[in-house]
Amino acid sequence: MDSKKKSSGAPKPEKQSKCKYSERCGGCVYMDKEYRVQLEIKQKTVEKLMKPFGSVLPIVGMEEPYHYRNKVHAVISGGRKGEIYAGTYEAGTHRVVDVENCMIDNEEADAIIRTVAGLMRSFKFVPYNEDTGRGFLRHILVRTARATGQIMVVLVVADKVFPSKNNFVKALLKAHPSITTIVSNFNDRRTSMVLGEREQVLYGRGCIEDELCGCRFKLSPRSFYQINPVQTEILYRLAVEYAGLTGAESVIDAYSGIGTIGIIASKYAGSVTGVELNADAVKDAAVNLRLNNCKNANYIQGDAGEFMLREAAAGRSCDVVFMDPPRGGSSREFLEALARLSPKKVIYISCNPETLAADLKYLTKKGYKMDKCRPVDMFPWTGSIETIVLLSHKSSDSHINVRTEFGEGKVMFRWLQ
Ligand code: SAH
Repeated sequence: MDSKKKSSGAPKPEKQSKCKYSERCGGCVYMDKEYRVQLEIKQKTVEKLMKPFGSVLPIVGMEEPYHYRNKVHAVISGGRKGEIYAGTYEAGTHRVVDVENCMIDNEEADAIIRTVAGLMRSFKFVPYNEDTGRGFLRHILVRTARATGQIMVVLVVADKVFPSKNNFVKALLKAHPSITTIVSNFNDRRTSMVLGEREQVLYGRGCIEDELCGCRFKLSPRSFYQINPVQTEILYRLAVEYAGLTGAESVIDAYSGIGTIGIIASKYAGSVTGVELNADAVKDAAVNLRLNNCKNANYIQGDAGEFMLREAAAGRSCDVVFMDPPRGGSSREFLEALARLSPKKVIYISCNPETLAADLKYLTKKGYKMDKCRPVDMFPWTGSIETIVLLSHKSSDSHINVRTEFGEGKVMFRWLQ
């Protein structure tokens, strides 16, 4: 587990050449750059895009930017001589690079994937062939919960019957007793979607629980969950701090996933309503309300834009909106309804600064101003950039005086000093 791997000191440059897959994998676009330089590039990218809206606080980097991924996905493929590959698609192709260990993956997750690939031989599981649509095992997905140590293994298979199920589970658990649940997911469609609709729990509860910011969260195989738990806690704390809640506010948690942000914020708010498209995630959110004894929040399944439109049409008011849309950004419908609802504060969490900038262009025309903007490095070595923005409505009398434990003007880590 990554928690065991903690050590002090700046990342050592020699680590950069340690990845023998980087050229073929293509996932870590900054493999040749020191971590400090990566942070500078991300900072500058956000500054450039946010220039029309205001200044950008220093990026929050990681102390130890390795093995942070709590979710590891391996594609399975077979070679001509019966080899079994488990890894990632070679950049721009459908050839699979066999990845034994990856410097950003959780190490135990990588080890489990190796074991499954090894067991495939003894159990004579045929790797799925994308061209012919034949074969059994397609993908392995491992999710690890940093706080609780729970581990979920999802085996994506193209057959409804899982042969030698019990013996396979026994063998996998023998090699990795730390696994808490094993799920088989059925997907026989010729699609790039990894997970199918049907699941069968082979062992355990079919879900795992993790903890973030003192709250407990259940997650099931198909629900979204942030992949870097160390940085997620920082991101969520910033979100709650930016909201400056006093205990009275009505809050919307839009694009809420399993309810993480809303449930953490609910302790400081009057009420929270979350909206999320993925039905499994909404079911998880309902469980999460109970797990946290949260009585002032509820989660609704549906399109966030449609929900906001209904709220605006019904003339309901809202003080604070957290929004955390996918890479494509928010819909025009969502933004229009948001402007009509006109909450005093909007906390926008974005995994794509370009769509963030496009959405801010609209919202700043509708009376919002950017009070704070801070990138948080959720994906070291890769090109992805996460940013959190606090917007306040110009007409609102809310006094923005957010105190943060991260020190607003202070540079976060030594590599940016
Ligand atoms: N805030 C959550 C999830 C963020 S990821 C967290 O921090 O974990 C974005 C989420 O938006 C995903 O759960 C995805 O299922 C959901 N989503 C995507 N399109 C949506 C839409 N149109 N309406 C509501 N939710 C949507």
